[in-house]
Amino acid sequence: MPKEEINNLALRRALFYPAAEIYSNAPGGFWEFADAGEKIRRKIVDLWRKELVEKEGFIEISGAQILPEDVFKASGHIASFSDPVVQCKKCSSLHRADSLLSEKTKEVVPESLATTELDRMIKAHGIECPKCKGKDFAEVKKFNMMMKVDIGATGNQVSYLRPETCQSIFLDFKRIYRTMANSLPLGIAQAGSSFRNEIAPRNTLLRQREFGQMEIEIFFNPHRINEIENFSEIENFKLNLFLLKEKGVKKISCKEAAEKKIVSGKLVAYFLARAQQFYSKLNIPDEKMRFRQLAKDERAFYASETWDFEVETDLGWIELMACNYRTDHDLKGHGKQSKQDMVVTDNNEKVLPHVFELSAGIDRAFYVALDLAFKKEKRGPEERIFLNLPARISPYLAGIFPLVKKDGLLEKAMEIFRQLNSFDFDVLFEEKASIGKRYAKIDEIGVPFAITIDYDSLKDNSVTLRERNSMQQKRVKIDSLPEILWHLKTGKKSFEQA
Ligand SMILES: [Zn+2]
Repeated sequence: MPKEEINNLALRRALFYPAAEIYSNAPGGFWEFADAGEKIRRKIVDLWRKELVEKEGFIEISGAQILPEDVFKASGHIASFSDPVVQCKKCSSLHRADSLLSEKTKEVVPESLATTELDRMIKAHGIECPKCKGKDFAEVKKFNMMMKVDIGATGNQVSYLRPETCQSIFLDFKRIYRTMANSLPLGIAQAGSSFRNEIAPRNTLLRQREFGQMEIEIFFNPHRINEIENFSEIENFKLNLFLLKEKGVKKISCKEAAEKKIVSGKLVAYFLARAQQFYSKLNIPDEKMRFRQLAKDERAFYASETWDFEVETDLGWIELMACNYRTDHDLKGHGKQSKQDMVVTDNNEKVLPHVFELSAGIDRAFYVALDLAFKKEKRGPEERIFLNLPARISPYLAGIFPLVKKDGLLEKAMEIFRQLNSFDFDVLFEEKASIGKRYAKIDEIGVPFAITIDYDSLKDNSVTLRERNSMQQKRVKIDSLPEILWHLKTGKKSFEQA
C-alpha cells in the first residue's frame, strides 16, 4: 500500500505518531505507539520470542541501554560505525551520499565505499541536492552515528547509547555460559531500543534514530558448525535465496545450501530456515520474501557472510533482518580491550566461539505487517478499509459491543467482556458510537472478530459473531464463546467451522 495510506491510518488511529509532536522543533526520527499500535508491535516481539528464542531453548536478557566507551572501542563502532555524509554548498543541507546515489541509480550503493569514490560518483551521475537542486557539493565525510552520553557529575565518563542491542550479549556471554549453559551452541537474545544518529531519518518507522531491535547471537564452536541438532527437521525446507550474480530468487533446500557451501554450514542454513518460517507467520507471502546475499563491500564491518532477509512492499524491498556471520570478531575484541579471557571449554576443546547473528528490526516488521495487511474495498457505494492481520499479532482478538447502552445490554456485554478477559483473551469493550462506526474502527486496527450483544441475547443467551475479512455473521451461544475464540485464535478452525 502507498505509504500515505499507511501514514494516514497510523495517525487517524494513533497506531504511531511523531514523538513530542506538540513541539514544532522536536527532532525527527523518534516515534510513539498507542494502544492498537503498541499491542501489534508487542505481539510481533512475543511471536519472535516464542518462535525463535523459546523454541530453540535460547536465553533472553535485558541489558543496559547506555554502555561505556571501551565497549565500542572493542566492538569497532568508534572507528567504523559511520555513514558517508555530503553537504550541499548552496543551501548547506546534509545528505547521505549513498542514499542520494542509490535513489538516482536505482542500485544498491554500499555505504562502505571510499569517500573519494563517492565524490567521483556524485559528479559522474550529476546528483542534485534534494532541497535546492544545486549540484555543488562539499567532499564526502564519514560521520559517526553513535549518540554520546556524559555520565556522572563531572561528565568525564564517556558513554554511548547502544547502537545495537547485541553488545550486552557479548559482554554477558561468559557469565551466562558459566551459570546456565556450559556447552555450545548457546543462543542469547535481546529485544529493546537502539539508537543511531541518522543524518536523514525518513519513511517514518523505516529509518529512525531510536528503533526497536530483536537480536539473537548464536555462539558456536567453529569446528562443529555442521553438527546441529534438529537439522533433519528443516533439511528439505526451501530457502528463498537471492544469490550474488543471480537475477532472481532460487528455492534451495537447507541440505543443498549446506552441502554445496552456499552458506558456511548447517548451522547457518538451520537458522535461515527458522527465520523464514517466523516471517511466514506474519502473513508475508512466500513470493515477496527473500534472503539477499551481500557482497563484501555491502556487509557490515564485522561480518564475513551476510544474508539480508527482505520483503517486497510498495516502497521496494525492505530489509527486516540481517543474518550475519560475525566470526569471533566481538569476543576477540572484548577479550583484548577488557583483558578478560573469553575462551570456553566445549566438548573438551578450548575454543573462542564464533557467532551467527539474527538481527531483526521490530518497527520495520511492524510497518511491513501493516503494509501487507492494508486492504481497501468497495462495498456498494461505501469504501471500507481493514487490516488483514493474523490473529496472533492483531491488537485484540475481538471487540465486544452492546447494541445499545440501555435495557440491560450494557451489563450483559460487560459480563461477557469480563469472562473472556479472565480466559486471557485480548478483548476490547466499546459502547460508544453506532455499531457501524464501531465495526469500522476495529476493522481499521486489524481486530479479526466482533461480538455484538442485542435484545435477543437477553432471551436466548446467544450473540452475533462477525468476521472482519468476510463480514460474515453468525449466532453463537455465549457459553461456547471461549472455545470458539480459542479455535479461531489458534487457527484450529475457520470461521465457518467454529
Ligand atoms: Zn542544496
